[in-house]
Amino acid sequence: MTISNNIAEVKARIAAAARRAGRDAEEISLLAVTKTHSVEIIETALENGIELIAENRIQEAEKKIPQLAESYKEFHFIGHLQSNKISKLIPLKPALIHSIDKFSTARKLNDYLTLYNLHQDILIQVNTSAEKSKFGIDPAETVDFIRKISLLTNLHIKGLMTIGRFTSNQAEIRSCFKLLHDLFQQVKTLKIPFTEMSFLSMGMTADFEIAVEEGANIVRIGSAIFGARKY
Ligand SMILES: *Cc1c(COP(=O)(O)O)cnc(C)c1O
Repeated sequence: MTISNNIAEVKARIAAAARRAGRDAEEISLLAVTKTHSVEIIETALENGIELIAENRIQEAEKKIPQLAESYKEFHFIGHLQSNKISKLIPLKPALIHSIDKFSTARKLNDYLTLYNLHQDILIQVNTSAEKSKFGIDPAETVDFIRKISLLTNLHIKGLMTIGRFTSNQAEIRSCFKLLHDLFQQVKTLKIPFTEMSFLSMGMTADFEIAVEEGANIVRIGSAIFGARKY
């Protein structure tokens, strides 16, 4: 399979899942997760209709992103953000940081942005699977966390992100995504100042169809586009 075939197939599967859920596939963004893949391979994806790309490690992103000869619409950061890497991430101009889950890091990010008079769109990462190994805020603490983060003037909350449970049990995966969608609706109705619920980022190669059925409007796909990762 070539990358262009893979992209076509992923898009078709997103469209089919959207149709099953009575949704318009146009409202779902395909975010290509390019971690571990070379600049050349990323350029091939960009030549074949990919517009949004994501990395999860700042050290890797700062090497690759500035080298891309092919233009992209948006770069997203989806990995765990360490406060000592903030000054390396922001110059890469991430359109969206998906992974805010710690107040101290968010405050440092806001301080950095304020210093340079910059603004940053973010998502709040929620741990919907209750797996200790996963990053993300506890669902029960999410509303309070959002209220606190919303007061940081240079950060703009645009939605929620989660990683589904790693299991072959489809019902368990679906319940993670349902939980995030419920939280998304709940936060919307609270009308928290300076907080928008526009993006629901959920679904990866193994589970993106379930995520689309449960309301995702950003799916983060690596392996189904680029093949297995070699570390
Ligand atoms: C690697 C990664 C993905 C993509 O994973 P695939 O299973 O290869 O599609 C999505 N989201 C996050 C946060 C990731 O780190």
